[in-house]
Amino acid sequence: MVDFSISSDIQAIIDPIRAFVRDELVPLEADGLTTPFRQLIPTLKEKRAKVKELGFFAPYLEKEHGGLGLSLLEFAHVSEALAYSPFGHYVFNCQAPDIGNMEVLLQYGTQAQQAEFLGPLMRGDTRSCFSMTEPENPGSNPVLMDTQAVLDGDEWVINGHKWFTSSADGSAFAIVMAVTEPDSDNPYARASQILVPTSTPGFHLVRNIPIMGEAGEDYLSHAEVRYENCRVPKDNLIGERGQGFVIAQQRLGPGRIHHCMRWIGICERAFDLMCERAATRVIAPGRMLASKQTIQNWVAESRAEINAARLMVLESAWRIDKEGSYAARDSISVIKFYVAGILHRVLDRAIQTFGARGITEETPLSFWYRHERGARIYDGPDEVHKASVAKRILKRYGGEA
Ligand SMILES: Cc1cc2nc3c(=O)[nH]c(=O)nc-3n(C[C@H](O)[C@H](O)[C@H](O)COP(=O)(O)OP(=O)(O)OC[C@H]3O[C@@H](n4cnc5c(N)ncnc54)[C@H](O)[C@@H]3O)c2cc1C
Repeated sequence: MVDFSISSDIQAIIDPIRAFVRDELVPLEADGLTTPFRQLIPTLKEKRAKVKELGFFAPYLEKEHGGLGLSLLEFAHVSEALAYSPFGHYVFNCQAPDIGNMEVLLQYGTQAQQAEFLGPLMRGDTRSCFSMTEPENPGSNPVLMDTQAVLDGDEWVINGHKWFTSSADGSAFAIVMAVTEPDSDNPYARASQILVPTSTPGFHLVRNIPIMGEAGEDYLSHAEVRYENCRVPKDNLIGERGQGFVIAQQRLGPGRIHHCMRWIGICERAFDLMCERAATRVIAPGRMLASKQTIQNWVAESRAEINAARLMVLESAWRIDKEGSYAARDSISVIKFYVAGILHRVLDRAIQTFGARGITEETPLSFWYRHERGARIYDGPDEVHKASVAKRILKRYGGEA
């Protein structure tokens, strides 16, 4: 029996988190969305201290690591609550890519790696990044990768060119995907994941790439990085040689639940903003925007789509908790493109409802429209997920791709 009702224990966590986001983070948006990120850090640090006092910092971690020991399904509800404000995930230390890097280091890190890299990350003292995609190669087929790591004595020597290494600016370290076994017959066994402190000579952050006109900085940025004879200790290898894709695959299942529930939280905020605007905007004497059928259709369609999306994501999270990411791979692919599409539509309708104000920074809508367009591209573009689900389904009917 699948039961998605929220237990009273989890509700007792979600209610104060929602209140914190509404009372402490939403008010930051008025200035915060147009302030360079580094200038915001002192304020965000103060908010993080309050979250720590409440005992809600990094809630997905096991209790022994200072978290709340939530299941993926439970954390999915928390993630939705955090996403109501663009600052939620960062302030609660739940932001990508750190959360994925923490999961990788918890599962595969040696004791020494955990002490050096994971501990400070869990405490929120540092940030990290994940460096896989290359401008010269298709990210949607990452076995085509040029970055190489060659063992020279006790050190890996890394050479390569990456981009869209999100949040590299200001990160303490990168987890780099590099080819270490070029001669393996299995293309999925050629790459490894290696820890590279960003202070290492040969780690060059070339630039923060302008995204829709905004380069951003620090956590809110996507960097181009060159690795030029970048030397790190042999022991910085995560897991086994050639295990890079296995590790990457394991991080992607829960990672997609995190993204999808974040998008649903964003949808809920956009929905609230759209409805509030429609209910209060006078469009003709005595007539509100809400009286127009087009708006009513958008409200009804958005409500139905968000509700459906949430149930689909919770079902995937439940399946991962019960059966693991591999068994849940079809549902994970389906939610990845389905929820990203709904996010895009709901944001677009909300912006349209606001008219010109919708593309100003007076609401978070335009911030999300810029920052979340990538949802349909990262962690597998829509088309790749659709193709892989469809192929598996058609195979059951005897169809070959
Ligand atoms: C906001 C954002 C953040 C990111 N953060 C990171 C990060 O932190 N670390 C990192 O390593 N990477 C990151 N990426 C990169 C991301 O993983 C890649 O953009 C993604 O894998 C797609 O690769 P690509 O951009 O090279 O597009 P390509 O692989 O060149 O694909 C281009 C387009 O071709 C189409 N396409 C591709 N394959 C198929 C197919 N099989 N069937 C049909 N159509 C297809 C799709 O429409 C796709 O959008 C990020 C990207 C974005 C947008």
